[in-house]
Amino acid sequence: MSDSSIPPITHAPDAGGHFGRFGGKFAAETLMQPLAELEEAFFAAWQDPEFHRQRCDLLKNYVGRPTPLYHATNLSREVGGAQIWLKREDLTHTGAHKINNTIGQGLLAKRMGKPRVIAETGAGQHGVATATVAAMFGLKCDVYMGREDTVRQAPNVYRMKLLGANVIPVDSGTATLKDALNDALRDWVASCEDTFYIIGTVAGPHPYPLMVRQFHAVIGEEARAQMLAQAGRLPDVAIACVGGGSNAMGLLHPLRDDDVRLIAVEAAGLGLNSGAHAASLAAGRAGILHGNLTYLLEDLEGQIQGTHSISAGLDYPGVGPELAYMYEQGRLELAAADDDEALDAFHRLTLSEGIIPALESSHALAAAMRMAAEMAPEEIVLVNLSGRGDKDMESVMRREQAGFSEGTP
Ligand SMILES: *Cc1c(COP(=O)(O)O)cnc(C)c1O
Repeated sequence: MSDSSIPPITHAPDAGGHFGRFGGKFAAETLMQPLAELEEAFFAAWQDPEFHRQRCDLLKNYVGRPTPLYHATNLSREVGGAQIWLKREDLTHTGAHKINNTIGQGLLAKRMGKPRVIAETGAGQHGVATATVAAMFGLKCDVYMGREDTVRQAPNVYRMKLLGANVIPVDSGTATLKDALNDALRDWVASCEDTFYIIGTVAGPHPYPLMVRQFHAVIGEEARAQMLAQAGRLPDVAIACVGGGSNAMGLLHPLRDDDVRLIAVEAAGLGLNSGAHAASLAAGRAGILHGNLTYLLEDLEGQIQGTHSISAGLDYPGVGPELAYMYEQGRLELAAADDDEALDAFHRLTLSEGIIPALESSHALAAAMRMAAEMAPEEIVLVNLSGRGDKDMESVMRREQAGFSEGTP
């Protein structure tokens, strides 16, 4: 973001937060007032040049934006076919796109005079991004995390503690992300007077999906301008992985009025027919999850299904409502990558370009490589490299020592 002019909000949902039949505000009566207060504060902030000035300043000098756009010539040559270009969100402070959103919501919390923030986290990445801005803004921070996840993601729990946050283990349900989300919402019902709830993706009740999209749109705005400057044209295809959909909406929203194919890559886990995946759009159906109507994974009794992915960040049984809408409108195409394909892409980028990607981003890369191979050399595939792979060293190492992987060099 090079200046602090007020970016217009295009493709907004209706006043009730609906993107077509999706989205909305399905929340307890007690949350309607804090949600209305948040909506008012968000729109007021968005119209205030001072808010954008502060946000741009932090994105530049704290987060490290603009992030580079990199033509991966070695990988492109190896794959054959179209050019593969990477939007380097892995180079942001804390190593993933999530901080774009927590900076925005943290600033809003300050504006609204809330001294405390809460968040839910699965892999711990959103918890770390929230704890980071809470430390910087001087806010008290409590992070809800499934007990199961606190064990699997111990280094991130320690990181949050170092940053001054209090991690609250959740024992209900399956003791994972969806249970942490429920507990965070319950906390907010009781504490909204002094507490701001920082949601980590383009989900939750209105205005969260819109707000989080707007805070991440800087990814696609930068990438669009960089493509024109560096390649002289827009990409033919733009690809991002989807957990809840925030890095995807961030990259794809600013390209949706262009002649660019938009692709969301879901985690196929052990395979789309295995029952062990996180492909809510490809294999789910419409229902209500975490305050909005969207595509989700549930069993025949309507219980939310357990999900599986090699990347903890894609392990969410739903998807942001706007992605469900764009998919049904035919504006968003789906792709999937399973655990082995993601791991293969992880190694290929690392060896060919010296860039170790997050396992989440490796799903987008796997689909991009597959598509590029079928395309012409003058065509361009733009991939959102949503994060770096440092956090995944241990899971990759453990998996390969166990002799699980196939197709790795
Ligand atoms: C959390 C995370 C994701 C998935 O979240 P979205 O909201 O779908 O973007 C993807 N990549 C990385 C690196 C993450 O940390």
